[in-house]
Amino acid sequence: MKLPKIRELIEAIKALFTGPYTSKFPGKPHVPHKNFRGQPKYDSSKCVGCLACEEICPAGAISHRDEVTLPVPRRIMIHYTDTCIFCGSCEAYCIANNEGIKLSQDWELSFFDRKKESYETIEKELVLCEICGKVIGCKDHLIWIAERIGELAFSNPTLYQTRLKRFGLVDENLISAARDKSRADRFKILCAPCRRAMTKESEPDSEMV
Ligand code: SF4
Ligand code: SF4
Repeated sequence: MKLPKIRELIEAIKALFTGPYTSKFPGKPHVPHKNFRGQPKYDSSKCVGCLACEEICPAGAISHRDEVTLPVPRRIMIHYTDTCIFCGSCEAYCIANNEGIKLSQDWELSFFDRKKESYETIEKELVLCEICGKVIGCKDHLIWIAERIGELAFSNPTLYQTRLKRFGLVDENLISAARDKSRADRFKILCAPCRRAMTKESEPDSEMV
């Protein structure tokens, strides 16, 4: 007769006292191990809407949609829970101290309606160019950049004007009626092409110099 190995015997004796390894789910709710890496969840109060997580996601489980209707244009960040592989790259590369999106203990992936329940979204406010109306970035992201570079932000009117919005000193998402690109527009919130065009327009005529 083949005798059980010592290790197997010890495991069997231990199991008599500790119970089986398997859980009673779905009879009882399953509590995952404390180190379990489940679905990532956005934290809209920490996320700045930079899209780094969308860039880095190897499974293409993150995307976004920009809705540019005034008065509050919005970026909608979408995380597809049915595509995610829980690799954690989004959290690892999140510029907001790895807190804009974080792996959670949530492991449940079943749902009844895939079209409605297989994703989660958050919204971030967008800043638009005051001349052409194109998207510059999320308001929180521009403030994040301005705070990172400190006083250097004063060399870029788009950054410091966006920062001043927090204090109600700058109007929200104006689109210039004149759509001008003259020297007078120097202090507007502008996208890079409009700022380039404005700077070129306001340069002295080379033939006059
Ligand atoms: S955990 Fe990985 S696969 Fe899932 S959203 Fe984050 S980067 Fe993409
Ligand atoms: S702040 Fe983090 S979670 Fe938000 S968009 Fe950027 S990388 Fe993604």
